[in-house]
Amino acid sequence: MIEITLLGTGSPIPDPNRAGPSTLVRAGGQVFLVDCGRGVLQRAAAVGVGAGGLTALLLTHLHSDHIGDLGDLLITRWITTFAPDPTPLPIIGPPGTAETVEAMLKAFGHDIGYRIAHHADLTAPPAVEVHEYTEGTVWDRDGVSIRVAPTDHRPVAPTIGFRVESGAASVVLAGDTVPCASLDELAAGAGALVHTVIRKDLVTQIPQQRFLDICDYARLSGIQIAI
Ligand SMILES: [Zn+2]
Repeated sequence: MIEITLLGTGSPIPDPNRAGPSTLVRAGGQVFLVDCGRGVLQRAAAVGVGAGGLTALLLTHLHSDHIGDLGDLLITRWITTFAPDPTPLPIIGPPGTAETVEAMLKAFGHDIGYRIAHHADLTAPPAVEVHEYTEGTVWDRDGVSIRVAPTDHRPVAPTIGFRVESGAASVVLAGDTVPCASLDELAAGAGALVHTVIRKDLVTQIPQQRFLDICDYARLSGIQIAI
């Protein structure tokens, strides 16, 4: 069985009722966080999951709304993990992920220094293990496998989707994408598909070109609404 929890379904525009994009996938005793938008740790806490309880972080792409709380996640996991030799957090994302994670840790460099100086049992910065992929099998542990394929979120590139499988159950996390052949192949026969939707009828009511540009993502594939 795979348990899917939509932790956040918001957009870059703050919404009092929606956290930023992030989905929790629990399978075979493993806990995967797919994207880490604004407010993700509060929403994860609401379902009893802490940053220290994550098996791996999966990133579909590096748009700010999908990685908005990456820094909070890295620091909070670090300071709430009490094992003497903590396991590095696997982070799997598209090319650019390693640079982003490194920059995030650098941004929190002063904080990391304060805490290492303050707490005798914190002797090293947050431990991470970043893997960049655009396709192929990226995870195969204890009965859970994860496969990656390119998605189409142009002009944002590269972007990827994930297929998580555990026993007979499967779920595909597509992130922001329009329909495309590689996603069709990744999602073929899957038990569930988690996918961003743009409400063009709402977006086009905002009289600012920067917001209207959002519709480019759908227009590229000649469809009216990306589902
Ligand atoms: Zn995006």
